[in-house]
Amino acid sequence: MEMVCSSITHLGSGKSHLQGSRCQSSIHPLDSLTSKSKEEVNKLIEEAKTAQKSWAKTPLWKRAELLHKAAALLKEHKVPIAECLVKEIAKPAKDAATEAVRSGDLVSYCAEEGVRVLGEGKFMVSDSFPGNERTKYCLTAKIPLGVILAIPPFNYPVNLAVSKIAPALIAGNSIVLKPPTQGAVAALHMVHCFHLAGFPKGLISCVTGRGSEIGDFLTMHPMVNCISFTGGDTGIAISKKAGMIPLQMELGGKDACIILDDADLDLAAANIVKGGFSYSGQRCTAVKVVLVMESVANALVEKVKAKVAKLTVGLPEDDSDITPVVTESSANFIEGLVVDAKQKGATFCQEYRREGNLIWPLLLDNVRPDMRIAWEEPFGPVLPVIRITSVEEGIHHCNASNFGLQGCVFTRDISKAILISDAMETGTVQINSAPARGPDHFPFQGLKDSGIGSQGITNSINMMTKIKTTVINLPTPSYTMG
Ligand code: NAP
Repeated sequence: MEMVCSSITHLGSGKSHLQGSRCQSSIHPLDSLTSKSKEEVNKLIEEAKTAQKSWAKTPLWKRAELLHKAAALLKEHKVPIAECLVKEIAKPAKDAATEAVRSGDLVSYCAEEGVRVLGEGKFMVSDSFPGNERTKYCLTAKIPLGVILAIPPFNYPVNLAVSKIAPALIAGNSIVLKPPTQGAVAALHMVHCFHLAGFPKGLISCVTGRGSEIGDFLTMHPMVNCISFTGGDTGIAISKKAGMIPLQMELGGKDACIILDDADLDLAAANIVKGGFSYSGQRCTAVKVVLVMESVANALVEKVKAKVAKLTVGLPEDDSDITPVVTESSANFIEGLVVDAKQKGATFCQEYRREGNLIWPLLLDNVRPDMRIAWEEPFGPVLPVIRITSVEEGIHHCNASNFGLQGCVFTRDISKAILISDAMETGTVQINSAPARGPDHFPFQGLKDSGIGSQGITNSINMMTKIKTTVINLPTPSYTMG
């Protein structure tokens, strides 16, 4: 599929990063964005350290005020940011605009929540512990960590950047952002909105460059005090290399959708198609395997097939449902999973079709556990269906995965749904809806290889602080009260 990428001129740089280039899909590698040298990175991190010290002393309400300004600017700049997302990562136009607006909302919510969460401390007295008199008062506060290194993935380069930037800033930290190579222009535009809002110089900086080249230098940098990372297995490698600093890791998933025989099959089919194929399956919380009771499998597969047939395939600019996946190597990886499933006897509900990075949506029925697609994350528009004969079999498959991000169950029996939720080893279970990260203030966490820590606005603010206590030791009173 030969398409021409039109031009986007990046903010103030005067350079056109995408101008006139031709690419196999509408996606564009940003070769013209330069990689920062180690010297430049050192300078930026040092500036971030200096800026953080005075930012931490800036009154909380002023920090919140600036975040509200940045939120408004993000919404005002919705169109150019969305345009970057369309061109860089082939995000359908409507979803791209939604990402910009959702990011503004996240920043505002974070400002409000930060004022509440950070505006309160704890007061303790010593005589609640045996052997102590009431002579010590302990005041507990939350203080910033320092320089936060934020590394978001390509699929939400704006939203998953602000989900790290906003909590870090409200808590009094500075930010060094390493944007994904594809998505970097959108991320730069977003950072520009923070600069326009008036955040102090050096507090938020952006280190462009390929992760494979500058990643180790950044993640092992002695002046980085916390890493908030979202992406794939890279996060596991970073966890092993990073020093003794707090880590927030949001990694991959193989979210299972369990369909019981009493489920509302229309509701389930609608959620499977939305959950499995939105943004061409390139979402951490996409439905990545359907585990359906054999008794309703034929009916469910027919309903899903009918909906898949209605998905539009083409360009992000046209708001197609299915757009090219992010790189040729991603498309090749997905194809490898499809070929393996074919060789091992999966049923193809549609003909497999690919042009360049564009892969048509594909439902694979009768997938068995010996097929790679039963376990691996395709991050593309290919969805496996495994037929099960008991609920236990579905839970067993879900829990045998290395991943543990989200899962979902469809049933009309709420008591059974709760039991299944308790049994599923995932950070979240959705009942009668597809997995989803949002709303962004809900706790969000992966178990096992899907991550470390819990996010969501409040949890991220707390994670980007440490506890500081001041103990007031009262002098022995020189008089006694009557
Ligand atoms: P990725 O390849 O792991 O890259 C993620 C980020 O890490 C990018 O900014 C990348 O930069 C950077 N990076 C690469 N190598 C690095 C290194 N050695 N050190 C430091 N940073 C490095 O993931 P992706 O392909 O962008 O995103 C897809 C994955 O993210 C999927 O597995 C998906 O499930 C996961 N994800 C998880 C969540 C969640 O919340 N759990 C949300 C969204 C996505 P470059 O672009 O320059 O390589």
